[in-house]
Amino acid sequence: MAEIAESTPRVNPDALPVEHFDVLIVGAGISGVGGAWHLQHHRPGTSYVILESQADFGGTWRTHRYPGIRSDSDLYTFGYGFKPWTGAPIATAEEILKYMDEVIEENDLGRHIRYRHEIQAARWSSEDRRWTLDVVQLDTGERRRFSCGFLWMCQGYYRHSEGYTPEWPGMEDFAGRIVHPQTWPQDLDYSDMRVAVIGSGATAATLIPAMAGKCRYITMLQRTPTYFVTGRNANALADMLRELEIKEEWIHEIVRRKILFDQQNIVRRSFEEPDKLRAELLDGVRAILGDDFDIQKHFSPGYRPWHQRIAFIPDGDLFKAVRDGHASVVTDEIDRFVPQGILLKSGEVLEADLIVTATGFNLNVLGDIDFTVDGKPLDFADTVTWRGALFTGVPNLAWVFGYFRASWTLRADMLAEFVCRLLDHMDARGATRVVPELRDQDADMPLLPWVTEENFNPGYLQRGMALLPKQGDRPPWQHSQDYWRDKEELPAADLDDGSLRFD
Ligand SMILES: Cc1cc2nc3c(=O)[nH]c(=O)nc-3n(C[C@H](O)[C@H](O)[C@H](O)COP(=O)(O)OP(=O)(O)OC[C@H]3O[C@@H](n4cnc5c(N)ncnc54)[C@H](O)[C@@H]3O)c2cc1C
Repeated sequence: MAEIAESTPRVNPDALPVEHFDVLIVGAGISGVGGAWHLQHHRPGTSYVILESQADFGGTWRTHRYPGIRSDSDLYTFGYGFKPWTGAPIATAEEILKYMDEVIEENDLGRHIRYRHEIQAARWSSEDRRWTLDVVQLDTGERRRFSCGFLWMCQGYYRHSEGYTPEWPGMEDFAGRIVHPQTWPQDLDYSDMRVAVIGSGATAATLIPAMAGKCRYITMLQRTPTYFVTGRNANALADMLRELEIKEEWIHEIVRRKILFDQQNIVRRSFEEPDKLRAELLDGVRAILGDDFDIQKHFSPGYRPWHQRIAFIPDGDLFKAVRDGHASVVTDEIDRFVPQGILLKSGEVLEADLIVTATGFNLNVLGDIDFTVDGKPLDFADTVTWRGALFTGVPNLAWVFGYFRASWTLRADMLAEFVCRLLDHMDARGATRVVPELRDQDADMPLLPWVTEENFNPGYLQRGMALLPKQGDRPPWQHSQDYWRDKEELPAADLDDGSLRFD
């Protein structure tokens, strides 16, 4: 949790006035802002507030300020369905924030957002049919209380305050500086430094071309390779439609559909013909690095494509940095840190002045908020999910957890429509509570992890799996992470099939 101002006034929390809203959205990232848009458009009479612990909107795109920060999926699908994206497909954090700012401005959402409001505890009372939240206003230290009929968790999936850095032996011996990309010091002058980046995910692939040529030298150190796909940072179909002076709303929709169609094809091929797909991905890298480069060793992962997210490398900039001699790739394991850099298992020392640990996130389950349901502490791991959105025994709460392989926002948009439908349904039934419950026929259902390892297995999920809810082996208890399946099933889901109790 973030630090609060020192002069926290002593007040009896029970004596605090309570501000009540129909819906309370946690987080003003891309999911929370999108949720507000849907709520405002589909349920104009619903009162709502967004509480955000940071000083501004944007979530991920505001927290991450490392060199070159950009999306790794295209903005036609990472952007909202309701707001056309008119720029290049891969966007910088600044461009994404500008897009979100326009959504907030154009729809007057800003007056509903309270910044620097960190939610610390949430208590559901079945008697009062509401959640009550303990909130700290971080800039003043004041304690506040809010209540709501429905809690819409748009808090993302990782802790914003600090990233994940493994403990390696000898870290304290290293004479240089160690930085995690999530907490990048804005005054860091690396122009004269030899930089070693640990990791080869999307973050490393973004940082390296942005720093290459601007520092003395930069090396990507990876234990195992990652798949990348290269291409122009342009969309030929969008460019063509623009030449034909088609309306931006149409271009957005057509290009989204085309991208999703192509992606579905890739997912299918990753199962049906993984070797062919793999060869194509590697050919893309070879086209830039040439036949003499050891592609097999450095860019050919042991898993099938799509088992982890495939990062898009616009204009092949990462590979060009290697080809042009500004950057290199080392595939090896860390033995320990030494004063001059990193001693590798091969016996070599990777010398560095700056080590960047692009090693991922700390999973944060439900925003690090202490939850209780009717006085009982909620352990999320004891719940079973209803379509990856609602949870058994947890009334009036939805969590937006997006896609890994398709753009996150596709699911955030879809779930926002679902939440509005659910609220309509509650109104129509005169219900003030909805809670998923396993039916008799589900009682002996095998319970599986939130995401199965064969489906998708990034480190931060594997590290945090024990904290996450379970899924079942049949609808509606599955969390499929499959956009194409959800897009058919979620809007058509029968809310009266007995898996949701309304009262
Ligand atoms: C560097 C990076 C690049 C990425 N690129 C892509 C991409 O190209 N495509 C893609 O699909 N996905 C990408 N992702 C995944 C990305 O996180 C999501 O796509 C998306 O931005 C998440 O949005 P969100 O609003 O759900 O959550 P977040 O962006 O995490 O925002 C959550 C907000 O909730 C607030 N919050 C959390 N807890 C509390 C609390 N207790 N009280 C008050 N406020 C709280 C946080 O401060 C934050 O502002 C990327 C992730 C990272 C880190």
